[in-house]
Amino acid sequence: MSDFKAFDTHHVDNQPRVLEGFNAFDSDPMLQAAVAHYGAGWARPQLSAYGAVAGSELLEQGRLANENPPRLKAFDRFGHRIDEVEFHPAYHRCMTLAMEHGLHAFAWWHADRPAAHVARSAITYQHAQFEAGTGCPLTMTYAAIPALRHSPELAAVWEPRITSQHYDPRVLPAADKRGCTLGMGMTEKQGGSDVRSNTTTAVAQPDGSYTLVGHKWFLSAPMCDAWLVLAQAPAGITCFLLPKIRDDGRRNRIHIQRLKDKLGDRSNASSEVEFQNAVGWRVGDEGRGVRTILEMVALTRLDCMVASAGLMRQATVQAIHHCRQRSAFGRPLIAQPLMQNVLHDLVIENDGHLALAMRVAQAVDQGPNDAVQAAFARIATAIGKYWICRRAPSVVNEAQECLGGAGYVEESLLPRLYRQAPLNSIWEGSGNVQCLDVLRALSREPETRDALFAELMDARGMDPDLDRELAGLAHAFDAAATLETRSRHVVERVALALQAACLLRMNHPNATAFIRSRIARAHGLALGTLPAEWVSVQAIEASFAV
Ligand SMILES: Cc1cc2nc3c(=O)[nH]c(=O)nc-3n(C[C@H](O)[C@H](O)[C@H](O)COP(=O)(O)OP(=O)(O)OC[C@H]3O[C@@H](n4cnc5c(N)ncnc54)[C@H](O)[C@@H]3O)c2cc1C
Repeated sequence: MSDFKAFDTHHVDNQPRVLEGFNAFDSDPMLQAAVAHYGAGWARPQLSAYGAVAGSELLEQGRLANENPPRLKAFDRFGHRIDEVEFHPAYHRCMTLAMEHGLHAFAWWHADRPAAHVARSAITYQHAQFEAGTGCPLTMTYAAIPALRHSPELAAVWEPRITSQHYDPRVLPAADKRGCTLGMGMTEKQGGSDVRSNTTTAVAQPDGSYTLVGHKWFLSAPMCDAWLVLAQAPAGITCFLLPKIRDDGRRNRIHIQRLKDKLGDRSNASSEVEFQNAVGWRVGDEGRGVRTILEMVALTRLDCMVASAGLMRQATVQAIHHCRQRSAFGRPLIAQPLMQNVLHDLVIENDGHLALAMRVAQAVDQGPNDAVQAAFARIATAIGKYWICRRAPSVVNEAQECLGGAGYVEESLLPRLYRQAPLNSIWEGSGNVQCLDVLRALSREPETRDALFAELMDARGMDPDLDRELAGLAHAFDAAATLETRSRHVVERVALALQAACLLRMNHPNATAFIRSRIARAHGLALGTLPAEWVSVQAIEASFAV
């Protein structure tokens, strides 16, 4: 005993307790307010139920799923090609939890309720905070429905399968499974953004199917049961559904070449594949493939916004938790004025992102019955995807620094959030492509311009700084000759104005600080540069209620 004491060199002190076992919904007043404001208050019990899962079991299973990434099993031990990917049980558990709670289908289960996409987005927001990789197949499964409906016969067969509450990872014909997932293949080696450069070919067969020959440079979630894929048919780029197992029970000829060794998203397998006379079924008309698959992409882009906002939220939560319990120079970090500036700025940033993402989800909900909302969803998706996803790496990094050295260590969760942070900006159309998409919408679909400006101008009179910015924005799209070159800056300004308008309409306590800092620019380039009079420790404390 006395020997042991002699070597007892230190007593662990001034370290925060592990943040676990909390409810991600109940502890998030901004999420609750957004859900209520955008009309999904009816889903509170389900969202709170997922919040309990997310902040406990998903947190732990997500860690395990990322520490044990998937492995490709291209062949069996006898040399037969099997094209399987082996996942850690934790990955399957994350999928099970998410599908039981409807991350992939809540909006379709409750299509008769108002704001069902808002409610579902709140599930995605929570999931992304703890396990982003499984979000990939789940979001694609959710988003495939509008594209699939271009072929009612296929939709009739596949919709019940992909909206099932059951996760079933078995490699079986889809008809024999309790639930299916669906992925997407557009990107080829010679061009991802420019999908019209796709070279994969599709040849019609007498039975109505097509055979596809070619490759995909990125095909995430290669263990899905089917994929929506673009290929060149005689009339041009066309969308096809390729099942993993053919109707006759044999494997489709979709061969996984290798798995990508990625920066983040490590629990999820992303692959390169070749189609060697793979069987596909046409979705929508020949030659209309881009238009068809864009209906899927619109929803995956919504999820990119929501998930990036989720990453930023969890990073901020971890920072607040740490600063509440860690002291330096004799005071808790959260009591130090400069740290208060950083934390409050993180909270404000988060508030703006979540408010805009949920507003877009609301427009998606209202779109089918309201042409103005449909047009707003069309353009605001590109605006929001650009800005919200663009901000994730800087915001997560700033939160990471609040933890000091601990934030650079895997156990803290921050490194995983940080590695994940750039992804949503890259896939589903990278930043520049989103800005160009905004310009394309404005020029080719004039109703989107009307809807965007109606939304912005509706906020006039609520704040003088925002009024000045709105007056300037009315002319930001002029000078067409330079518009493409300027488009990042213009889109950023529009995104910030939309976020400000959302916060004002929510009567959010951080709305004015958001506008003074982000719109009136009383703010530096880094976070933590709020004007002193707007820094509030009460606002930080209120943002994470545990
Ligand atoms: C982890 C991961 C998983 C993925 N999973 C899938 C998947 O499941 N299915 C799938 O189909 N794809 C998938 N992708 C691919 C992804 O969608 C593409 O990488 C992305 O769309 C960009 O395409 P690209 O890589 O060909 O880049 P490029 O098209 O070559 O673009 C490179 C850069 O140039 C910019 N750029 C392009 N055109 C212009 C222009 N006109 N003006 C200015 N700038 C321009 C882009 O914004 C980008 O920054 C995945 C990617 C990653 C990283």
